[in-house]
Amino acid sequence: MTGGGEADSRTDRADARTTCDEPGCENVAAVRLHVPWADERAVCPAHARVLARPDGVVAEPIEGAEGEWP
Ligand SMILES: [Zn+2]
Repeated sequence: MTGGGEADSRTDRADARTTCDEPGCENVAAVRLHVPWADERAVCPAHARVLARPDGVVAEPIEGAEGEWP
């Protein structure tokens, strides 16, 4: 995907359920990724599997969303 950039960084946080931070993904975020070279992000399990591959990325289950994590 190209384009975008600084969009979508400030969305409404009134919603109790966090959605995946990946562009175009509306799944419920179940994992918070701590990326050493970038901001931490909340992603769905599917994206977490992809993004957590590089060394140093820590996938931490989000409280209350353990059921989303296989
Ligand atoms: Zn996702």
